[in-house]
Amino acid sequence: MTSNKLNIAVIAGDGIGKEVVPEGLRVLEAAAKRYDLSFDFKEHDFASCDYYGRTGEMLPEDWKTRLEGSDAIFFGAVGWPDVVPDHVSLWGSLLKFRREYDQYVNLRPVRLMPGVPSPLANRAPGDIDFYVVRENTEGEYSSIGGKMYEGTDREIVVQETVISRHGTDRILKFAFELAQSRPAKHLTSATKSNGISITMPYWDERVEEMAKNYGDVKVDKYHIDILTAQFVLNPDWFDVVVGSNLFGDILSDLGPACTGTIGVAPSGNIDPTGRFPSLFEPVHGSAPDIAGKGIANPVGQIWAGAMMLEHLGHKEAADGIVQAIETVLSEQKLRTGDLGGPLGTVDCGKAIADALS
Ligand code: ATP
Ligand code: MG
Repeated sequence: MTSNKLNIAVIAGDGIGKEVVPEGLRVLEAAAKRYDLSFDFKEHDFASCDYYGRTGEMLPEDWKTRLEGSDAIFFGAVGWPDVVPDHVSLWGSLLKFRREYDQYVNLRPVRLMPGVPSPLANRAPGDIDFYVVRENTEGEYSSIGGKMYEGTDREIVVQETVISRHGTDRILKFAFELAQSRPAKHLTSATKSNGISITMPYWDERVEEMAKNYGDVKVDKYHIDILTAQFVLNPDWFDVVVGSNLFGDILSDLGPACTGTIGVAPSGNIDPTGRFPSLFEPVHGSAPDIAGKGIANPVGQIWAGAMMLEHLGHKEAADGIVQAIETVLSEQKLRTGDLGGPLGTVDCGKAIADALS
């Protein structure tokens, strides 16, 4: 059931996370006023390198208890590689949430926004507007495997790909439902069944099987090599693109890259069953090179807030936020420096909140 009272765990993390998250909250508060919602934001200092510095851990032992009752997690960015190696900070926080909360969907909207120059020639807003759906829990990123004859010239290294029926069907179901909810009703599956001869034909088989339940969705498949080329050459062909963990990973970085700056793209790590809280964050990281200067673009964080609202059943409010973002990005004088505008993080956040009210 959709509730108008939302309990949100807020984790700003490191670097520019601490600057853009407050702007995300500002816009969510503005959305609450306009759309009659109420937020209970609970801020947490863990999952940050500061916290690691104080405790030697990225998360407290009782982190699950502390996050209990949260409808979702609104996340900034984690990582401060000068102090804590990225694999320690990442595996100790974000990847733990992903696994423990079974956030098996990584969802990334890929949309060219007004005022953002695309690196692709002759592309305008409206030409690029699709979703990448990445399987987030299995596939090529299993830690099953091993080494033999280590250190000799007969050395062998093996790592398995895990494609389970359960894991495949649930990500496909999410992707088909998303496609069905969109006007184009078009799903593209990323595969490589001409080269990877066991797991990928199975993936294709499951796509065909699942398609039987969604007669109104047009389905096609591309091998990952040509698919990446088509993202660049014909991004207007796509509506919802689904891929395994590795293929989805590649596509979910390539997609936002085709839409210009990294500063505006959002991402959701979602458990569609609602059993666990889902986590919404910008695509960008903690950006140590610009942290503390007040110049980071807050749009990716704010858009992540819109995704969070949509996930929690408040589509109208989510659309309102995205519209406010578009209004602000359309005006050069309201953009941040990375987009050639004069504003800092806070003023850009305020402009979007104003556009919403
Ligand atoms: P990750 O740790 O997530 O892999 P990263 O640390 O490699 O990411 P980012 O932190 O995303 O990379 O930064 C990459 C580049 O983009 C940096 O030069 C950074 O300044 C810039 N950048 C990132 N986010 C923003 C933003 N919100 N506004 C402006 N510039 C940004
Ligand atoms: Mg980083």
